[in-house]
Amino acid sequence: MRLVFLGAPGVGKGTQADRITAQFGWPKVSTGDLLREAVRNQTALGVEAKTCMDAGKLVPDSVVIKMVRAKLADAPCRDGFILDGFPRTVPQAEELQAILHESGLALDRVINFRVSRRDIVERLSGRRSCPKCQSVFHLTFAQPKISGRCDRCGEVLVQRNDDKPETIEARLKVYDDQTAPLIAYYQAKQVLSELDGSGDMDAVYDRLLTVLRGLRAA
Ligand code: AMP
Repeated sequence: MRLVFLGAPGVGKGTQADRITAQFGWPKVSTGDLLREAVRNQTALGVEAKTCMDAGKLVPDSVVIKMVRAKLADAPCRDGFILDGFPRTVPQAEELQAILHESGLALDRVINFRVSRRDIVERLSGRRSCPKCQSVFHLTFAQPKISGRCDRCGEVLVQRNDDKPETIEARLKVYDDQTAPLIAYYQAKQVLSELDGSGDMDAVYDRLLTVLRGLRAA
């Protein structure tokens, strides 16, 4: 399946995408992860992107579109994928449609994760990430087995610069202004499914599976 997971930062798109990848094998393509990797490797793209990311702003469309185009051309994505954090603007959505159209393909579904603003802020401010393997934990909801250490690789967990309170507000404003219009955009194309992203991860995953089963049966 070719899916887009849409929603504000902190709604749980990435976590749920990882579980779908583990169960169904469709690779997750996260533009945030790809950009963070570029920042870590100090590539020219990473150096350019870091300032935008630390300020909670979007990286220019042309940069992310190029990254996604290259990724979708990779063999693992040919039979399906989950886009996490892309598209984030209407021009990105249009470019995605064009990229897929070139190969005679289209999106199967866009899943819009809905979570209250209060819960989003709580989830983002308590999030702790592994800078090495990208695993994600939470101070309250998903504590690591050893405090402050990644369960998977043992690295010291960090708070992402853009998960600090002052940047969270900026990211939510960017979401409202530039990404939320995609809900109407995909609704008009009749490919949007709404998902209640509140509550614990297992409950959200069950709801997500119900949506996906409905699509596969259709
Ligand atoms: P995320 O991990 O998806 O929350 O992304 C972290 C940051 O990476 C965002 O706040 C943006 O600065 C940048 N970013 C990720 N995806 C995109 C995108 N599709 N378009 C522009 N910037 C992006």
